[in-house]
Amino acid sequence: MILRRKTRQVVLGDDAHGFVRIGGDAPVSVQSMTAGYTHDIDACVAEIHKLAAAGADVVRVAVPEKKDTAALKEILPQVSVPIVADVHFHFQRALEAIEAGVHKIRLNPGNISDRAQVKDVIQACKARKLPIRIGVNEGSIIERKDKQKRLKELGGVFSDNKHGHFLAIMITKLEEYLDVFREEDFHDIVISAKSIDPLLVIDAYKAISERFDYPLHLGVTHAGPKETGTIRSVVPLGHLLASGIGDTVRISYANDPVYEVQDGLELMYILGLRVRKGAELIACPSCGRIQVDLFKLVQDVRKQLEKEITLPIKVAVMGCVVNGPGEAEGADVAIFAGDRKGIIYVQGERVANVPEADILPTLLAECRKFQDRVARG
Ligand code: SF4
Repeated sequence: MILRRKTRQVVLGDDAHGFVRIGGDAPVSVQSMTAGYTHDIDACVAEIHKLAAAGADVVRVAVPEKKDTAALKEILPQVSVPIVADVHFHFQRALEAIEAGVHKIRLNPGNISDRAQVKDVIQACKARKLPIRIGVNEGSIIERKDKQKRLKELGGVFSDNKHGHFLAIMITKLEEYLDVFREEDFHDIVISAKSIDPLLVIDAYKAISERFDYPLHLGVTHAGPKETGTIRSVVPLGHLLASGIGDTVRISYANDPVYEVQDGLELMYILGLRVRKGAELIACPSCGRIQVDLFKLVQDVRKQLEKEITLPIKVAVMGCVVNGPGEAEGADVAIFAGDRKGIIYVQGERVANVPEADILPTLLAECRKFQDRVARG
């Protein structure tokens, strides 16, 4: 069991959109961000619905222009999850988004740094009891021109010197920014410190968690396409979460953000930080002992389980009985294939021996029966 770091707690939301707690004893929430234009109201609403249906607890939208904050007034009544306005460069966008009724603001110290402007945003959030995320992304707090020069001097992107230098800048910028919030006695703060470098992400969040008790929003910035971004993201995020650090998570891919939500939730489930809604599927990787079309069977089982099973039961699909029974230990319902047939077990008890064509329907029938048993208690 993971012992989570104690933090303050912030709450965002309202009766119409539900409330999400971040930090303290709240479960780690999963966020995502719409990929389309916010001012394209119907498309934005549809995307928010899609992300909420996938399980996103919170959805962020970009508001680069006044037409985007204007659109929020029409978007908010049509959606049912708390919405965060992502603000860069123009503090007025934050004020407009607050006025429109968003539930949280994200500010970037790298491009909104004027103290008076930041104070205006803080006061507007304070009046409406809205939290603010301070996102000190490596890419935006370090001047691009200066960064290239410093990188050369420090020995390259992955050098220890670069690592320590950029970490120090991120922490210093954060300290300076937090001073403004402290002056305003504002503490409904969430902090993020994203980088493309997974090791810097780990060190930055660890350093921040040692200095402050604000809840942390974990993420890797510009993680890339899903095919490679998954590893880039889950290595640092998994490490931090397993160390008890992190209160809300956004995995970011250059792809449909529904994948971000699915993978964020899966990360929570496998670390035991959230209770899975639906079946957990275990499957063997297949090898030369296989005697059924295992990859197809696994995908067919996965798709049907997603449709039919809503309780957290454990299902195993194993290619043979050589290592199968041992590796599927703990599965509620399991199938062991062999010689174009499948032997099905429920909680370790053999219940059926069926030809290959009947494996899928029989396995699913046993899963439904088992789910009914669990539901009846
Ligand atoms: Fe190979 Fe059987 Fe293990 Fe699957 S369960 S990987 S088929 S030995």
